[in-house]
Amino acid sequence: MADRANVINAGVITTAALNTAYLSILQTLHKHELRATAAFVTCFAAEADVMRDHLPLFEQMAEINPAWFGNMLPVLRSGSLDGWSGNGFYRAMATAGHEMAWHGTTHLHLSDLTTREAINLELELATKLFTSLGHTPRTIVFPRNQVGNLSILRHYGFEAYRAGLPNGLSNKLMGLLNEWNIYDQGVLETPKTQDGWQVSPAGQFLNWPSGIRALVPVSVTIRRWKSLLTTAMKRGGFVHMWFHPHNFITAPAMKTAFEEIMRFVSELVKSGDMVNLTMSEANEFYKMGRPE
Ligand SMILES: [Zn+2]
Repeated sequence: MADRANVINAGVITTAALNTAYLSILQTLHKHELRATAAFVTCFAAEADVMRDHLPLFEQMAEINPAWFGNMLPVLRSGSLDGWSGNGFYRAMATAGHEMAWHGTTHLHLSDLTTREAINLELELATKLFTSLGHTPRTIVFPRNQVGNLSILRHYGFEAYRAGLPNGLSNKLMGLLNEWNIYDQGVLETPKTQDGWQVSPAGQFLNWPSGIRALVPVSVTIRRWKSLLTTAMKRGGFVHMWFHPHNFITAPAMKTAFEEIMRFVSELVKSGDMVNLTMSEANEFYKMGRPE
């Protein structure tokens, strides 16, 4: 969201608001003994002091993409990082045993339209920040789900990514209409090996009840997810939920849906009808072939 000037200027994304959102997610997962994959933007994961150390690199990046870094650069120079530093959340999620994945260095999209020069700077900064964090992720969740630059990313040691969503207005409309599909059974796609990568299916977005999506009642969202999970349980399918934690701030109803769906998942896990895997664990699981 660092690139959404309207959100930043509205002052909605503060450290306090982020704390509430992340704590709620962590507590729900902990309470139901579930693990997830947390894909962090590296600049958000890093410590504020470390970020300031790399100001010259940001300035170089801003020369290539001035519009992109127009919001971030003044914040870094001012030293006031309220709402910008998620190091505490990163540490908390890592300590809780979740898989720590990569969501880009600055959330700049990494599609093939982004220049090689910009990608190289992103990766140079990422490498330095991974060192300070003490962990180099292997799994990518591409910013805005725009997949690209796979050969250079493979060269940097990444091994797995989540497939992008089909673009275009009609696909977006179909996705929106599907939020009302309380009989949704779309669980057949599973992780696979492709061109030397482990690729997770695009997955399902936990509805963000904001704007037009606020028309979908939370009860409908819960029924749709229970249909997906029940179908997966009965027929041997794969369900991958994703969302941005920031969305909890602007749409608190998401918490209700998340809590109830996780409670339902934990019941299935405890009864032995489902396994709870992170992205890389699921890749390993499906490498051995689709289980019966
Ligand atoms: Zn994102």
